[in-house]
Amino acid sequence: MKKMSLFNPEQALWETRREFGEHGGVTPSIARSSTFTVLDPGMMPKIFQGIRGPDKGGCFLYSRHFNPTVDVLARYLSSMEGTEFAVCTASGMSAISCALLQLCRTGDHIVSSDTIYGGTHALLRKLLPEMGITTTFVDPSDVESFEKAVLPNTRVIYTETIGNPTLKVADIPRLSAIAKKRRLALVVDNTFMPMVVTPAKLGADIVVSSMTKFINGGSDALAGIICARRDFIYELMDLHTGRIMLFGPTLDPRIAYDIIQRLPHLALRMREHSKRALAIAERLEEIGAPVCYPGLPSHPQHSLIQSMVNPEYGYGGILTLDCGVIEKAEALMSILQNKERFGFIAVSLGFYDTLMSCSGSSTSSEIPPEDQSKMGLSPGLVRLSVGYTGSLDARLRQIERAVRQVGLVS
Ligand code: PLP
Repeated sequence: MKKMSLFNPEQALWETRREFGEHGGVTPSIARSSTFTVLDPGMMPKIFQGIRGPDKGGCFLYSRHFNPTVDVLARYLSSMEGTEFAVCTASGMSAISCALLQLCRTGDHIVSSDTIYGGTHALLRKLLPEMGITTTFVDPSDVESFEKAVLPNTRVIYTETIGNPTLKVADIPRLSAIAKKRRLALVVDNTFMPMVVTPAKLGADIVVSSMTKFINGGSDALAGIICARRDFIYELMDLHTGRIMLFGPTLDPRIAYDIIQRLPHLALRMREHSKRALAIAERLEEIGAPVCYPGLPSHPQHSLIQSMVNPEYGYGGILTLDCGVIEKAEALMSILQNKERFGFIAVSLGFYDTLMSCSGSSTSSEIPPEDQSKMGLSPGLVRLSVGYTGSLDARLRQIERAVRQVGLVS
């Protein structure tokens, strides 16, 4: 399959205007003020009328609207994701829900991948229908099924770059072509693949991410981001109807600062996550364990992901091991954590240590069992977010011992 993307997110991030702090600090200052003074009282009505603002030769007003430190992070993320503009939120879920609620009104319809994070699935399946917004779920590896599900009232195609947790790959360029033809917005959750894939460069209109995961990388903060065209971000921040402005999932500037400090090594971290995930996946495959990883040629959509990844970031840090039944999955995780000290049994991902969870009974438990089996999620599927601590050789020995001990391979 032809390579589609030649974007270099690390370079884009580095080339963007650098923000220095007060007194010539090499790091940005943390603007903790909730409110900001205007020297001239005539400025305030202009800000409220949208005529003046921080990006329109005016000044800051109130931190739920715009905040200097949080805006720096948004600017860096929009460069990295190759979009015009971005806005930060307090979590990945608030980024997803605000983006969808901005795009859809009562009576509208969404076509979504059925292989998505459990919280997003619950939002689409349970909460949005209460507001008259319905969703048809389709298999993300079957592009035609998205087009077949489009109705006259469809507004959005929604997918994750790599579906959580079955690691099915979305064909973003083809989904974008469908979205353009049918005048829909293509919204892509890129939480699993920052820097590795740049959905906007492949045709996504709106890119959402949980910065809680790889982007922050320390498992010590929650944050989200919406990257899109400038006019969509302004809609979200509109004083009268903006979903972010009015629901108010504002990111704290101290957390924004922490994430800003970790962005310069995100590329290094992603390469190391990818390198180790591939090495572990290869070893597991070699010994006959039921492993799934998009970087393995045996992954059914390996050539598709190869055509979408940016050069030199690998294929991401997430792999799965299908233990079949929950008892075996729990036994494996218990050995890995308590005997081998390979990683931690915990939800979430993108941490420097390995995190592992049995998806069906944890982060995908919002999805009913019949839908889990339809999307190919077995009750014994263990999702591993591969960390980069410890020596890789030792990690390979640990996981090999553990899979042998639970009888996943003989
Ligand atoms: N998107 C994906 C793919 C996720 O895995 C998660 C959480 O696990 C979220 C979004 C939600 O992010 P947050 O927990 O920051 O709200």
